[in-house]
Amino acid sequence: MKIGFVSLGCPKNLVDTEVMMGNIASAGHSLTASPEDADVIVVNTCSFIDPAKKESIDTILEMAEYKKSGKAQRLVVAGCLVERFRNEIATTLPEVDAVIGTNELDKVVAMCEGLSPKDEPITPYLYHDLTPRIRTTPRHFSYMKIAEGCDHPCTFCVIPHYRGAFRSRRFESVINEAKNLFADDVREINLIGQDTTCYGEDLGLKDGLAVLLERLAQIETEHQKWIRFLYCYPNRVTQKLLDTIAANEALVKYIDMPLQHASREVLKRMKRGSNGDQFLKLLERIRKTIPGVAIRTSMIVGFPGETDADFSELCQFAEAAQFDRLGVFSYSDEDTSASFHLDAKVDAKTIYNRKRKLMAIQRKISAKRNKALIGTETTVLVEGPSADSDLVWQARMSTQAPDIDGVCYISDPGDGPLAKGQFRRMKITQAHDYDLVGELIDEGRPVAVPPQPLFPILASHQTPNALPHR
Ligand code: SF4
Repeated sequence: MKIGFVSLGCPKNLVDTEVMMGNIASAGHSLTASPEDADVIVVNTCSFIDPAKKESIDTILEMAEYKKSGKAQRLVVAGCLVERFRNEIATTLPEVDAVIGTNELDKVVAMCEGLSPKDEPITPYLYHDLTPRIRTTPRHFSYMKIAEGCDHPCTFCVIPHYRGAFRSRRFESVINEAKNLFADDVREINLIGQDTTCYGEDLGLKDGLAVLLERLAQIETEHQKWIRFLYCYPNRVTQKLLDTIAANEALVKYIDMPLQHASREVLKRMKRGSNGDQFLKLLERIRKTIPGVAIRTSMIVGFPGETDADFSELCQFAEAAQFDRLGVFSYSDEDTSASFHLDAKVDAKTIYNRKRKLMAIQRKISAKRNKALIGTETTVLVEGPSADSDLVWQARMSTQAPDIDGVCYISDPGDGPLAKGQFRRMKITQAHDYDLVGELIDEGRPVAVPPQPLFPILASHQTPNALPHR
């Protein structure tokens, strides 16, 4: 059978898709990148806010068309939409032949082959280093899930309902997978989980993430390597973690730490605690410990009860904090979230205006911070032709994460070959609001990184920037 996969949502969902593809291939089935050609289509869905739900349902209906026009016999739906609407999918979407929850990835072969699901309790699932996985990202970088689920009580978030309680992958399993990835042309590993800073707490490890990062940085490779972790929780950012990042060259100087708001009142209603003053002290400690660190955060505007005063406090905080990267998200009133039951809901127009205002503040900050980089030299990872034109290649600095941050456009490729996966020296010559332009100033060396991903998927809509959770 030929099976095609669509992957929606966040990088954690993408890794789930890659694990399902690995299971399919190791069961002897083949993968196809064209929906017309697929005997079975699997849509791995996202469902944490309205736009993501809508996109998932639209994509399911789009793929269902191939059962009429193409070869497709079966349509299988996986992921967070199943966790939220398992029964509704069965009753309202007759086009769907089978569903797979986030803890049932190892059932994908049976569901594609049309076997009826066994009536057995669903247990928490987490892949490991021996699990077959087919990477779909460009060969030079990879995501690696180090944990699943979440125990935090954020009132706006529904993810713990879908992904279950927090659980870490075994330490050696993560180390082995990293070794395999670096041996398989990967130059950059991005560690992910709902909250990476909780890593190891359930394994009895103190400062588990710092210990893990230290060990990952020691992995011997024939090439330079970058190790990044995304999604850290502010009150889990320890001095040991910061010292570990500062002390290890392979650990990129990049902190992704969603704060969600700065008003003490709003953070209290979000059940996240803390406040803007404490966050400013934390940012100061981070910048003091890790010189040149880039800090990314995300904020939610329009949370129930957010007053004009709360919002202006958030704007003043963003001005004072001077983040390198800041994503702004409109509050989404999910009926399965605790905040759904809060009073003082903010109207859509106000939410829209607040989002625009905070994004405008950040655009100016980002442009100013980028301008300050003109004339400096930095190491970049060459990514390949840019999305806009094959003639213009792009690269990323270590302070630019894949898929969510800006890039560096290459105005002059310098001497020698230019290839994906090369680490090169770049001199920044121009700055835009989010992106940079620069010339390569060293001699390019051939690299052994094959240009194409191991396997493309049918369509991957990374719900743009939609990562306000954590
Ligand atoms: S926002 Fe993040 S940390 Fe909070 S409950 Fe959701 S997944 Fe957990």
